[in-house]
Amino acid sequence: MSSLSTKLTFWGVRGSTPTVDPATWRFGGNTPCLDLVAPDGTQFILDCGTGLRMLGNRWGTEDSPRPTKTHIFVTHYHWDHIQGLPFFSPLYVEKNEFQFYSFRSKFLGRDSLRQVFETQMAIPYFPVDFSAMSARRKFRELDGAETFQVGQNKITARWLNHPQGCLGFRIETSAGTVVYATDNEPGDPALDKSLRELAAGADIFINDAQFTPTQLATTRKGWGHSSWKEGVNVAREVNAKTLVLFHHDPDSTDRALDGILSQAREEFDSVFAASEGMVITLGAPGQAVQAHLPGSRTAMRRDAKFRACVTGLTIGGQRFTEETIIRDLALQGASISLKHSPRLQSELEVVIDTPGVNGVQEMRLRGYVVRLEAGQEKGTTAVGVVFTD
Ligand SMILES: [Zn+2]
Ligand SMILES: [Zn+2]
Repeated sequence: MSSLSTKLTFWGVRGSTPTVDPATWRFGGNTPCLDLVAPDGTQFILDCGTGLRMLGNRWGTEDSPRPTKTHIFVTHYHWDHIQGLPFFSPLYVEKNEFQFYSFRSKFLGRDSLRQVFETQMAIPYFPVDFSAMSARRKFRELDGAETFQVGQNKITARWLNHPQGCLGFRIETSAGTVVYATDNEPGDPALDKSLRELAAGADIFINDAQFTPTQLATTRKGWGHSSWKEGVNVAREVNAKTLVLFHHDPDSTDRALDGILSQAREEFDSVFAASEGMVITLGAPGQAVQAHLPGSRTAMRRDAKFRACVTGLTIGGQRFTEETIIRDLALQGASISLKHSPRLQSELEVVIDTPGVNGVQEMRLRGYVVRLEAGQEKGTTAVGVVFTD
């Protein structure tokens, strides 16, 4: 399992409640769950929202067997962070072992997380009893002020400003530092400071970006969440290298998130909007952060050849236009071979020549870059695009 990189996968990125409407399809509707595999092979899960079920479905395939032990960090007990637990199939497998970390809630008392498990699966809320979970589970309560070691990784937990409390986690691996700070609102001086301590110099800083700066200042003040703008401010102040906007509002459509992301990108160099299936790899020190978005969200494609003209923005922010042949095209998206390397999550315009009754016609499509891979021909990039219109 050991490798030199740290691999972080986003299984759920939506805040508050899952969304299934088509307008949120591209970024995804599952609630918070991330999976991190450190270079020493230690595996971590961050939060147990509905994304956890998807992770469970891909657990321990023959191609990539999983170690039996996993460390699960639960930031707090709001529904969206625990909802996936009863649906995580590895919990029903005897040989597995899970070490949970969370905190003692003053509303629940001793063994808060164990109580959450039992209550979630109590009659009449769930058909199967808690005892059906045969995996070994251990529970450790944190008090928001500690630093400890898991494998070769240093973990720091700190309190964040959120109703009934929430923990932020900093995971320092040999390939870089990931900070997970979901569900927090700016405005409490002591907790603002603890967020900054947690995020200091992080390679990946994942921050709550549920609301727009205007909502945060007005109608949503006191709800316990943050904005892209606040994430940018903190990232700048503490020299975080890459900011990931997280915990998207259930009412934020894909288009709204495109807008939020482009605003953030005007103010900070390296920003991603967390998207379901997104994988971020941290390599050796000094190497650029690599992010991949899933291609599996597009349906089957058929082989064809279309002449096309593609306009977009490069990673460096330069506008480019390039002629190419598209061989891989579907209604929802395409894989396009380009000499230019467009920016992940940037907008792309694709004008395709299609044969029609009156000769060749132009079809004009707009989409977003969701995947970048080395192209089949040397010097090209295979660019995965999802069309929005
Ligand atoms: Zn939440
Ligand atoms: Zn919450």
